Amino acid sequence: MIILVINCGSSSIKYQLLDMKNDDVYDLLAKGIVEKIGLPSGKLVHRPSGKDRVEKEVAVPDHKVGMQMVLEELVDPVHGVLKSFDDIEAVGHRIVQGADFFSGSAIVDEDVLQKIEICCDFAPLHNPAHLLGIRAVQHVLPSVPQVVTFDTAYHQTMPDYAYMYALPYEYYTKYRVRRYGAHGTSHQFVAHKGAEFCGLDINDSRIITCHLGNGSSVTAIKNGKVVDTSMGFTPLEGMIMGTRCGIIDANIVPYIMKKENLTPDQMTDIMNKKSGLLGMTGVSSDMRDLDAAANAGDEKAKLAMKKLSYDVIKLIGAYIAVLDGVDLIVFTAGIGENNTRLRRRVCENFGYIGLKFDYEANIATGKDVLISCPDSKVKVAVITTDEELVIARDTMHLVQGCEE
Ligand code: ADP
Repeated sequence: MIILVINCGSSSIKYQLLDMKNDDVYDLLAKGIVEKIGLPSGKLVHRPSGKDRVEKEVAVPDHKVGMQMVLEELVDPVHGVLKSFDDIEAVGHRIVQGADFFSGSAIVDEDVLQKIEICCDFAPLHNPAHLLGIRAVQHVLPSVPQVVTFDTAYHQTMPDYAYMYALPYEYYTKYRVRRYGAHGTSHQFVAHKGAEFCGLDINDSRIITCHLGNGSSVTAIKNGKVVDTSMGFTPLEGMIMGTRCGIIDANIVPYIMKKENLTPDQMTDIMNKKSGLLGMTGVSSDMRDLDAAANAGDEKAKLAMKKLSYDVIKLIGAYIAVLDGVDLIVFTAGIGENNTRLRRRVCENFGYIGLKFDYEANIATGKDVLISCPDSKVKVAVITTDEELVIARDTMHLVQGCEE
């Protein structure tokens, strides 16, 4: 089944075209990105498998035009990979926020669209863009079924005492204020793949997954079900991230707003886009830049990196308590897959629970690898995440289910 996987941001469309033979056997036919939608100078980068990459500087006024451009690249006689639009059998979309409406992926219909619309309140930067993407596909490929996969769905098994905030209860009933988590698709993928990789039964194991990228979250999974995760009502809660502050004393918010005469939107912007590694260092939100700065003696870069590993250690420690122990710790995403220093710093801290770290194996980056010793009581694995594959699998299952 040929499936187009779409990840729509407010000014971008990322895509992958996959030919799914079954859950594990598939060909990546092409991938690419349309950037700077709505700005005077847009850009499209299309990477067809086995053919030359295409780059075009062109204004893209809206998502509909962007989607049309993607489809035209896919069927282009020279660098295309399909004969016609009709070859696309289904489209799967990544959706950031599904709140408590969705505990799994869903086929798009008007009811589903209405619920995604309601969730725009909790993800104002993401959900409206996802809706634009779905509408654009409806416009260009009206008869192709569409599926939505939610970053929040996997976390819906959290118990109420983990997802409730200790605020007046009416804010939960009136405004749905509770913890939803994020990166669920990634946590689910690496927990399952990690368990398989280490010979564990996902349904009989305690796993802690650390998705460490620009946005970062840690999740506790017992017998295949999420019991807690570090992100909350929005992806701001939890640990320090590239530009997000993570957990802070909530009283800091009105305090800084009064001192600096800031509006709620300005404060939100500071906490989401100007804090974290970037805010603490003034250097960069990117760990590669911070590694370089720290090596050159930058004290703030060293401090921010220490805080990052400290936050991961604290979360893992808390989740070991929540899970009554741990069988497997998984590292994934840009930092988790590539930053060997961070992995070492974190793992060296858990010798007291019998974790024996394999320093040699830890040299590996960007691939699946076991970084605990054979006699370690706790296994530690690096697993490369693949959220698009999860979306493609769910899309295939739901669409095939409808056809049967
Ligand atoms: P996003 O959350 O935007 O998907 P990523 O998962 O790519 O981001 O993570 C971005 C972070 O991962 C950055 O801090 C970056 O420095 C780090 N990173 C990504 N790739 C590498 C690499 N090959 N080597 C070292 N660090 C990397």
